[in-house]
Amino acid sequence: MIALSLTEIETITGGTISGLAPEDQVPLISGSVVTDSREAEPGSLYVARIGESMDGHRFVGAARDNGAVAALTSRPVDDLPCVVVDDVQAAFVAISRAVIDRATDLTVIGITGSSGKTSTKDLLGTVLASAAPTIAPVGSYNSEVGVPLTVTRVTDETRFLVVEMGARGIGHIDYLTRIAPPRIGVVLNVGTAHVGEFGSREAIGRAKSELVQALPEDGVAVLNADDPVVRGMADVTSARVVLVGEAADATVRAEDVRVGPDGRATFRAVTPGGEAEVALRLVGRHHVGNALAVLAVALECGLALDDAAAAVAGAGVVSRWRMEVTERDDGVTVVNDAYNANPDSMRAALAALEVMGEGRRTWAVLGSMLELGDESDSDHAEVGEEAQRRSVDELVVVGETARPMADIAPVDGTRIRWVEDADAAEALLRAELAPPDVVLFKSSRDAGLRWLGDRLTTTD
Ligand code: ATP
Ligand code: MG
Repeated sequence: MIALSLTEIETITGGTISGLAPEDQVPLISGSVVTDSREAEPGSLYVARIGESMDGHRFVGAARDNGAVAALTSRPVDDLPCVVVDDVQAAFVAISRAVIDRATDLTVIGITGSSGKTSTKDLLGTVLASAAPTIAPVGSYNSEVGVPLTVTRVTDETRFLVVEMGARGIGHIDYLTRIAPPRIGVVLNVGTAHVGEFGSREAIGRAKSELVQALPEDGVAVLNADDPVVRGMADVTSARVVLVGEAADATVRAEDVRVGPDGRATFRAVTPGGEAEVALRLVGRHHVGNALAVLAVALECGLALDDAAAAVAGAGVVSRWRMEVTERDDGVTVVNDAYNANPDSMRAALAALEVMGEGRRTWAVLGSMLELGDESDSDHAEVGEEAQRRSVDELVVVGETARPMADIAPVDGTRIRWVEDADAAEALLRAELAPPDVVLFKSSRDAGLRWLGDRLTTTD
């Protein structure tokens, strides 16, 4: 973090320092800010949050043992000097803002969308890092805690900060944009993810548009031209709009998209400044749109198109379980995309499986999609039908919530089986997988399929 003393943190948060004798030296927070005491390191500030099941104040001692020099708390503690505040979350946000305000040459890029935020954040992080010091967290740090944790990693050297902004409800992204005010905002797509919580796709669109509404006039809104709801967001932003996609009027456009037998796409990126051939290492045609958004941002950040295209081509999977492909020694291909799932990302993954499975037997081991609300059963059934359309040979449906995926009218060619849990699926797969099969694992986190996918990357 950009170093801050405990007195500065007291001022920024409006709190009160406790546990510091007049003769003590005021601690300087030069390390990271952490909410997990196990991640504390020398110079860290430990933020004691009170969660649903845990009270972070219990771990102040553990944070100190790992090197933390101070804590942010809602009551005085014995183990470390601390700043006591009424509202730890609000204080954490205030510290993030102070860090952003003190950074001298920092461009903040916010990314939202129903699917692909983490994949795109990782790709963009890799591309920008090829040009200048960049912070993009690994994993899905997209919440009111994850975003400040990311922001407080900014140092004086950082030039680009890439922030994933997830919407759990109206007002949520707006809140995140106040923690990390972006100059560039990317909206990837508005799918049906989280319809359960929002009620409708339009409501999801409204929530996602909070990102582009928060952009300044000299900012840039990078919008997916191929998604009508996202394209419509041009009307609600005062920032300059850069459309990306395959649509003819997109400013940064993909032409001649081809998908190879390994599931990887190649395309020609057409931009106002020239054209470049782009070959993706990431698997799945859906990454074309993500890559276009990344190229558009990279150009806005001053990278040359050829350099950006080369960096995109070199980027593999950073955060785990996103179309992670493992070639097993015996010739079976394992595709682990079981970090999360919604109908759109299920379709995207099944499309990739179809291409990769050309001439081979394909398995789709699919579990539940959460947060779908009333549509849950019909959405699951549609994914089952999509699997059949994509000529999946063996559809293994895992778990009770996903059962409607298996309860569909069977068509020739796809064998459909339902199993209770990941263990049952493992037994079946261990017995029946054979080279050169391709097997896709996909579901929401709860079903444990990502671990099953990991176990099946070996034959023992
Ligand atoms: P979360 O809301 O859990 O943070 P996310 O938006 O960060 O999700 P990722 O983790 O990047 O999304 O990807 C989730 C799934 O969506 C993966 O299966 C990925 O392959 C797929 N995916 C990525 N980009 C797209 C896209 N543009 N369209 C459809 N699916 C996509
Ligand atoms: Mg994510």
